[in-house]
Amino acid sequence: MSKWVYSFGDGKAEGRAEMKNLLGGKGANLAEMSNLGLPVPPGFTITTEVCTWFYDNGRQYPAELKDQVAAGLKAVEGIIGATFGDAGNPLLVSVRSGARASMPGMMDTVLNLGLNDVTVRGLAKRAGDERFAYDSYRRFIQMYGNVVLDVDHHHFEEILDSHKRDRGLNYDTDLEAGDWQTVIEGYKEVVQEALGRPFPQDVQEQLWGAIGAVFGSWMNQRAITYRKLHDIPASWGTAVNVQAMVFGNMGDDCATGVAFTRNPSTGENAFYGEYLINAQGEDVVAGIRTPQHLTVAGRQANGSDLPAMEESMPEVFQQLDAVRLKLERHYRDMQDIEFTVQQKKLYMLQTRNGKRTTAAALKIAVDMAREGLIDEAEAVRRIEPKSLDQLLHPTLDPKAERKIIAKGLPASPGAACGKVVFSADEAERQSQMGEAVILCRVETSPEDIHGMHAAAGILTTRGGMTSHAAVVARGMGRSCVSGAGELRIDYKTGVMTVRGEKIAAGDVITIDGSTGEVMLGHVPTIQPELSGDFATLMGWADRFRRMKVRTNAETPLDARTAVKFGAEGIGLCRTEHMFFDTERIIAVREMIVAETEAGRRAALAKIAPMQRQDFVELFRIMAGLPVTIRLLDPPLHEFLPNSEAEMDEVAKAAGTDIQRVRHRALQLHEANPMLGHRGCRLGISYPEIYEMQARAIFEAAVEVGKAGQTVIPEIMIPLVGTKKELDILKAVIDRVAGEVKQSSGVQIDYLVGTMIELPRAALRAAEIAQSAEFFSFGTNDLTQTTFGISRDDAASFLPDYQRAGIFEHDPFVTLDTEGVGELVSIAAERGRKTRPEIKLGICGEHGGDPASVYFCEKVGLSYVSCSPYRVPIARLAAAQAALMGEKPASEA
Ligand code: ADP
Ligand code: MG
Ligand code: MG
Repeated sequence: MSKWVYSFGDGKAEGRAEMKNLLGGKGANLAEMSNLGLPVPPGFTITTEVCTWFYDNGRQYPAELKDQVAAGLKAVEGIIGATFGDAGNPLLVSVRSGARASMPGMMDTVLNLGLNDVTVRGLAKRAGDERFAYDSYRRFIQMYGNVVLDVDHHHFEEILDSHKRDRGLNYDTDLEAGDWQTVIEGYKEVVQEALGRPFPQDVQEQLWGAIGAVFGSWMNQRAITYRKLHDIPASWGTAVNVQAMVFGNMGDDCATGVAFTRNPSTGENAFYGEYLINAQGEDVVAGIRTPQHLTVAGRQANGSDLPAMEESMPEVFQQLDAVRLKLERHYRDMQDIEFTVQQKKLYMLQTRNGKRTTAAALKIAVDMAREGLIDEAEAVRRIEPKSLDQLLHPTLDPKAERKIIAKGLPASPGAACGKVVFSADEAERQSQMGEAVILCRVETSPEDIHGMHAAAGILTTRGGMTSHAAVVARGMGRSCVSGAGELRIDYKTGVMTVRGEKIAAGDVITIDGSTGEVMLGHVPTIQPELSGDFATLMGWADRFRRMKVRTNAETPLDARTAVKFGAEGIGLCRTEHMFFDTERIIAVREMIVAETEAGRRAALAKIAPMQRQDFVELFRIMAGLPVTIRLLDPPLHEFLPNSEAEMDEVAKAAGTDIQRVRHRALQLHEANPMLGHRGCRLGISYPEIYEMQARAIFEAAVEVGKAGQTVIPEIMIPLVGTKKELDILKAVIDRVAGEVKQSSGVQIDYLVGTMIELPRAALRAAEIAQSAEFFSFGTNDLTQTTFGISRDDAASFLPDYQRAGIFEHDPFVTLDTEGVGELVSIAAERGRKTRPEIKLGICGEHGGDPASVYFCEKVGLSYVSCSPYRVPIARLAAAQAALMGEKPASEA
């Protein structure tokens, strides 16, 4: 018989932390905490396999489930000493979802289940507290009504608000038992009206209704969107946890809270959390009441005068602090925990590896390695390479003037600037049009996820460091300022006000998620540095790394940035970018419109000294590191003059008339330039171009060499399909090398190699390697030519391909390891056979994509090359690839 239900509680459990796939994250960790002897209210987990079975079988349950749930419930009743549905001594439970990967706020939880008109009286009597019992009942009707019966929550809120108004009551805590009874009557009417039947009084019906709702919510729109954004397959399913209730709302010796075992924003090794006295469940994150800090330090740092738990409940706090240490030692990672205090007794309700900013992740990994909790390899594995992107973003220029209009909490670091929008839909719409926007909300909810994703930054006027906005923004790497309480947002008029200042939709603001500051207008930013824990961890990563990491750079600025980030050479210097320079574009155009070799040589002679200087500068910056220079690649028409004025200018420079320039431009037009006269084909037609470039490279090498630096330039021929093309052009380069050697009297070492970016070149690699001393995989073009998909036109149909499941990822972002990857491995293998010491690198966009970097390690490439800002990402990804030869298991 299949086992669908796993029990936990009373110091033991049938499950374990490793069983996340089966029990979901929440269930597996509740089991683990029970096994650790922590105070976990007893319960049971209905497995994710039931969810899968449910959807495979037309939303039915496996036959054995009923009995197994009944048995699980019986066990809980035994431990608690109360009976589900019993009039005198009722057991209450929560029904909680919990998928494999944590999906914050995505799935719905129902608390206080098992209450009805009869059991509520039993609860009141046993607790000796009517108010508490009716407060719990009304919470239950509200949650169950909303989550299971699909009655919109505003109906309930209206009833509560109008009752408060009528009685002149401000806070929920001001309501007495009688008030709650009146509210409950109102709630029940709402349900009767919406559903045409009364609120279910049968506790079994309640339980199965809630279980069905949790499984049902796996396919709600919010969950589907979240899964799409986070690459979570629908097939994983969610588990359902049924757990005995403990009550944080039984009086002033009760509380509920959430905490991180270390600061999730900075990584500091300090307990960090919030709690509310006399409250239940999600009151803390919902932003209804202002939460209080756990520690005195936290309270002081945030300038709050509400007592910290350390002060108000010192004994319980000590227990909680001990749990914190125990959990960290056990999980060897920072934990995000939920707890409830019922009449001074602590209960643990959840633990999971906490989400954190990248800065915090680095600090925690480095600290934990130093504390001996993990080793350095593990620290390196812990950091998601892509997340480093967060630290490689600009921060506000400290010298820049700023007009601070409000201050909130530094919920997720980084500076962001953009136009104010007040709704998630608007954020999405404007960002699709290329606008940077700041999504401004009173608070956010799971319905806003798409807008949060689209926004450059998020600003809320309500909610703490653990509010929905803060948690989700940190996860997404969006900068976020939360709880900027001085700001008033009026959605109706589309205006945000603060002390007489009006900010309308469309106005530009800047937010700094590291300080919590909100500023008017655009504030300039500065470039990031690689220092502190970041530098330490990168140093560790370098020790484990096999592949070298180079950069794609042609400007001195890019080259310097890349070196600062640890680049070990240039893997791709695109010389055409040097041609676009405004100062030389006229000479370049003159070269293109020239109709004779002599004309072209005259124009090239003007470009040569500038080109030589480019290389001198690059060689100096790279100080002896390898530099791969790709000779001119793009189709000539990309350089053509467009406007009349430009044509006129070129005509004058070339000593010809505008008519001829126009004619030549027409002549150069191509139907399909991507597959046209470009790359080495230009070199074949006009060898003098490559000749000039080779000469500039060698002369620069000689010049820099005289100053004492050895430069071994690697000259790369683009778009080669046959060995013959390479041979012809290599002969030109060798000849020029000989000439420069002759004239300078200096011995010149250099390599000549080729891009592998056409399928034919990959297939004929054995032969090409007879002439090529290195290969560099140009995976952008190789992807384009392998699929026959134009990268410039793909955007219009790629989304359809991804929706239809044909492409899991955009193949221009993440290497298609199956097809394009097969060509890469074939070429690598055949190239090595001919020339065992051949250098192999990759220089497409993929060089900075972690998943592609793992592939490069597997194929045994010598290096990856990527844009300067991705160098640290590639260094880390290469280290992780070397450590495990496959994807990291970092996201637990
Ligand atoms: P989420 O995944 O959205 O955090 P949870 O299942 O963790 O949902 O529950 C929501 C809230 O209810 C949390 O604050 C949790 O601590 C609280 N809660 C869940 N089950 C219980 C229980 N048995 N007793 C008391 N509080 C509970
Ligand atoms: Mg939770
Ligand atoms: Mg190319």
